[in-house]
Amino acid sequence: MKIPGIIYLIVGIGVIIISSMIEKFTFFIVIGALLTFVGLIKIITGTPNKERKIVDKISKNPNGFITCKFCKAYNYPNALRCHHCGRRIK
Ligand SMILES: [Zn+2]
Repeated sequence: MKIPGIIYLIVGIGVIIISSMIEKFTFFIVIGALLTFVGLIKIITGTPNKERKIVDKISKNPNGFITCKFCKAYNYPNALRCHHCGRRIK
């Protein structure tokens, strides 16, 4: 199960706020900052939906060909560039 970045962000900010209110919990600010950081990285870099869509496309196509998202031409699954328009497929 994948936890979305926004959850990390909310929990991280929550931990920072709570630990900054309680003097003894100063250490938890670091953990909160880490969680917030992880959340931000996940939001910025996280494109699991896009990858899943490509996998779906391949599995749905009986011949194993992948469709170019720009010109809709069929390409071999191992092709890096579209044979028709020359743009990157992956
Ligand atoms: Zn193309």
